[in-house]
Amino acid sequence: MSAPLFERVALIGIGLIGSSLARVLRRDSPGTTIVACARRAETLEAARRLGIADATTDDPAAAVRDADLVVIAAPLSAYAEIGPRIAPHLRDGAIVTDVGSVKGAAIDALQPTLPSHVHFVPGHPVAGTEHSGPEAGFAEMFRDRWCILTPLPDTAPEAVARVTALWQLAGMRVATMPAEHHDKVLAMTSHLPHLIAYTIVGTATDLEDTLKSEVIAFSAGGFRDFTRIAASDPVMWRDIFLANREAVLEMLQRFSEDLTALQRAIRWGEGETLEKRFAETRAIRRSIIEAKQA
Ligand code: NAP
Repeated sequence: MSAPLFERVALIGIGLIGSSLARVLRRDSPGTTIVACARRAETLEAARRLGIADATTDDPAAAVRDADLVVIAAPLSAYAEIGPRIAPHLRDGAIVTDVGSVKGAAIDALQPTLPSHVHFVPGHPVAGTEHSGPEAGFAEMFRDRWCILTPLPDTAPEAVARVTALWQLAGMRVATMPAEHHDKVLAMTSHLPHLIAYTIVGTATDLEDTLKSEVIAFSAGGFRDFTRIAASDPVMWRDIFLANREAVLEMLQRFSEDLTALQRAIRWGEGETLEKRFAETRAIRRSIIEAKQA
């Protein structure tokens, strides 16, 4: 049997993303030893029960010892604490990667703490659901989705290639780009839509009681889709908006201008403007389906 891609993988965080990756490794790289790390005993107990880790610990320093790959899959706000905890215990030549949704902030928090004898390859598998925790994960979550790596100018290409191979094992397509560009793109494609969903569902929640119960009872496609997005993890999304503040505010500004334009078209009965806009957006949906990202 050929050698596994990685001998020993430490997963710091074994929630939706960490446990999904653990399931991929279990399925496709049986020779890999998986060490799972989380703070709470119940999380570690779930990882053991699910059979997705060979060892579990609440100590990040112990988790990374002898690991040739460390994957940080914890909330972004935990990075500042995790970096200094693991740094002194990382093996020579180890690869450190992460899955955080905002790359500039991930790099700012981790890069200064990591020793020069390890390779840091920041990453973001753009896949997920609104659920959290080890039970919510599944290996197929990554299939045919994109993983974006944002290596630094001095990151060794071999390390990038090995992390690329990891995500390809999970069925992902892998792209690389600068962190700043990633954060702008994701502000538009992911962060702003979540903000809008949180706002719409929040507005409905603030309605007076009778109206609110009707909103829930007659929840039609549009609103229902927003409630799914707005059920996403509150801690993760708090972290994302704080970590990607500038890019989100820029996209929000553009969005408000476009919203005002549509508001005006409705007020003045400009049906042609509305129809033209909706036809353009329908074409976008078609291209997403064609790109198999629907
Ligand atoms: P999750 O399901 O809530 O899992 C987070 C995991 O991190 C849990 O196992 C948690 O366990 C552990 N954890 C929290 N603080 C920790 C700390 N200080 N030290 C060690 N472990 C800690 O979250 P997730 O959805 O997998 O998200 C994890 C990361 O993936 C985030 O950075 C997020 O931005 C990114 N991401 C998420 C998605 C998505 O759709 N959910 C998609 C792509 C990327 P304990 O609470 O027991 O510590």
